[in-house]
Amino acid sequence: MTTTDDQWTLLIHGGAGVIERTSMTPGREVSTRAALAAALEAGATVLRAGGAALDAVEVAVCALEDDPHFNAGHGAALTHDGQVALDAAIMEGTGRGAGAVCGVSRTRHPVSLARAVMEHSPHVFLAAPGADAFALAQELEQADPDWFITPERRANLAELLARDPDEYDAEMKYGTVGAVARDRHGRLAAATSTGGVTGKRWDRIGDTPVIGAGTWADDRAGAVSCTGSGEQFLRANAAGAIAARMRLAGEDPATAAAAVLAEVTELGGTGGAIVVAPDGEGAWAFTTPGMYRARVSSGTDSEVALYRD
Ligand code: ASP
Repeated sequence: MTTTDDQWTLLIHGGAGVIERTSMTPGREVSTRAALAAALEAGATVLRAGGAALDAVEVAVCALEDDPHFNAGHGAALTHDGQVALDAAIMEGTGRGAGAVCGVSRTRHPVSLARAVMEHSPHVFLAAPGADAFALAQELEQADPDWFITPERRANLAELLARDPDEYDAEMKYGTVGAVARDRHGRLAAATSTGGVTGKRWDRIGDTPVIGAGTWADDRAGAVSCTGSGEQFLRANAAGAIAARMRLAGEDPATAAAAVLAEVTELGGTGGAIVVAPDGEGAWAFTTPGMYRARVSSGTDSEVALYRD
């Protein structure tokens, strides 16, 4: 792709996993594509108007959090005892400001809470219940914990517990959401939000809210948002490693993402990542059968995709 100085780019994902044509109903495929297209357009509207990458990724992730197709916000995966415990992170690449929250259950948009942590607290990472208290102090929109829970997620949990009450859902059929962007001014940002994995216990935290593992942005290197088996993404420091390869080894986003996903595979994990380079070149990569994803940049039409081919 040819890039220019005032190029803007946005990529989003709605999770990677066992997403295959054979297991998808036509109705679900249409509604999932529409949800991805709407979230992409929400972020693209910001970038088209010359707005900030940080605003674009927040707006896109908020749209995905509200959509029950995806495992974040409303429609998030449930814990072993049927609750929500939401994790999110956001990072901007110019000053490398970052904010993250884990285990929250009362803030409608966990990604906006992560941004508030970045902008209005001296900290980077807050855990519930303190994070929920901070959201109240920041006057962020609240939601009843039940509002996040959908019948489909209750059914997913019941299925899992019936199969093996000691397991958590490593399949991640319905994924985490994320966005990466480069704005017209060359600023990068990344955001990721999730309910984690179905059946998680003991206040388990995955890669999503861990800066460097699931989310990373650095204007000198790239912006990355990951989805997949969080334990292995944590151990690979995946998002930070992709950006480091781009900055220090000069790799393009596709090469860097493929190399780090290969490391995740070696560790026994699966998943995907979306990446944008400082010049606006974007890439997605995944080792699962599919990944909900979409992209658009200045001068190109938007693309929405679900399956490998
Ligand atoms: N990476 C997320 C986690 O481990 C799950 C996902 O991507 O769907 O919490």
